[in-house]
Amino acid sequence: MPSQPPRHSAIWHPFTQMARFDAEPKLVIERAHGTRLVAKDGKEYLDGVASLWTIVHGHGEPRIVEAIKRQAERLQHSTLLGVSHTPAMELAERLLQHVPKGLRWSFFSSDGASAVEVALKMAVQYWGNAGLPERTRIVSLDMAYHGDTLGASSVGADGIFRKPYESLLVEPLRIPSPHRYRCSACAARTACDLTCATALERLLAERGKEVAAVIVEPRVQGAAGIIVAPEGHLKRLREICDRHDVLLIADEVATGFGKTGAMFACDLEGVTPDIMVLGKGITGGYLPLSATLATEKVYRAFYDAGHYEKTLFHGHTYAGNPIACAAALASLDIFEKEPVIERVRARAERLRRLLGAAFAEHPNVGEVRQQGLMVGIELVADRATKRSFPAAERMGWRSCLAAREKGVFVRPLGDVIILMPPLCISEAELDELVGAVSYGIGRALRSSPGLG
Ligand SMILES: *Cc1c(COP(=O)(O)O)cnc(C)c1O
Repeated sequence: MPSQPPRHSAIWHPFTQMARFDAEPKLVIERAHGTRLVAKDGKEYLDGVASLWTIVHGHGEPRIVEAIKRQAERLQHSTLLGVSHTPAMELAERLLQHVPKGLRWSFFSSDGASAVEVALKMAVQYWGNAGLPERTRIVSLDMAYHGDTLGASSVGADGIFRKPYESLLVEPLRIPSPHRYRCSACAARTACDLTCATALERLLAERGKEVAAVIVEPRVQGAAGIIVAPEGHLKRLREICDRHDVLLIADEVATGFGKTGAMFACDLEGVTPDIMVLGKGITGGYLPLSATLATEKVYRAFYDAGHYEKTLFHGHTYAGNPIACAAALASLDIFEKEPVIERVRARAERLRRLLGAAFAEHPNVGEVRQQGLMVGIELVADRATKRSFPAAERMGWRSCLAAREKGVFVRPLGDVIILMPPLCISEAELDELVGAVSYGIGRALRSSPGLG
């Protein structure tokens, strides 16, 4: 490490080891259009991860840009603390046409983790308000990711993201993730029998009276490396929660707004959670906004003129910012006017074929996981034993870096290469995406110290 750190800018980058950052090629994005990022040096890159899973209808979509401009001229900001404004009112109403039936109330925040915090506070206070204050524990899945604030990382996976801050966190109760490829629950079985979900039954039978809620990323655990739950997993959790009178929180921050091939992952199984968390794609990826939606049952437990302490004591300064709400409304307009979801399903089919052709027989691809346009390509040193590469080889990272040579920007999570293009990606661009990633993996393998 240099004794005098070089200075690229004054930014301390998120989730970034800065010493490593300083040693690597820099990418400075200056403009973007459609599915393309344009760097300061003029080079264009296909945005293979939708600018961290946010961009829905493409960059610079004129209808969203226009809505932002119009709203910026009219009202830039006004609080929602005891006052209202029309963009937020309209958005809360419009969301009801899209979210699972039974969800009724929108509590706005500015990013995913904040909306998760709201969901956790809502769930615990729900039971307090209902006269069962002993129900305080949250159940989460062992590979979960729900954001980086203290409450959200409390219920996240027990790993390096969480360790340094452990003294500040509360302990959730945990159940196994539905991870077929490296399943801890049914490794010895030939077919999945949802043992991971049934673990919740055992847990709640024993400790249900302490539990406020179960929080889950429905169908796809994104940051865990696109772990795709088997059909029926979410439904099973819903049934078990109902049986034990425990709330179900669906964190759709990553899965919401079409990426899974349905508007929401909950729709894939016809499940209505008690609380649903939305973020990332809600504004089409243009401005920070998130929402925590609740059913009438949850809302009613807080509604009490005589008891001020039943109030939900939470609210971020920029919650439900009018310009962000206007962008979200314009994005919903596009979902309503165009067959966006149908297009995602068709593109996902093509993507499945391309990935199959590129990686089905690849000796260093252990598994390709896909749900809609969410893809995880897990690299392994040995396909037969599923042995991982030594972390120091940074195979995932080096593969993604090499893909940039072919004009594609992707980011790995460990040795899982993530693809999550904007929903508007064309068929030709899918070919380009898979081609570049395939090239990147090849390049990384050829320069791998362990295999050379
Ligand atoms: C990204 C993500 C979050 C956190 O959202 P931020 O906007 O980064 O705070 C929460 N839950 C899931 C499932 C996510 O993928």
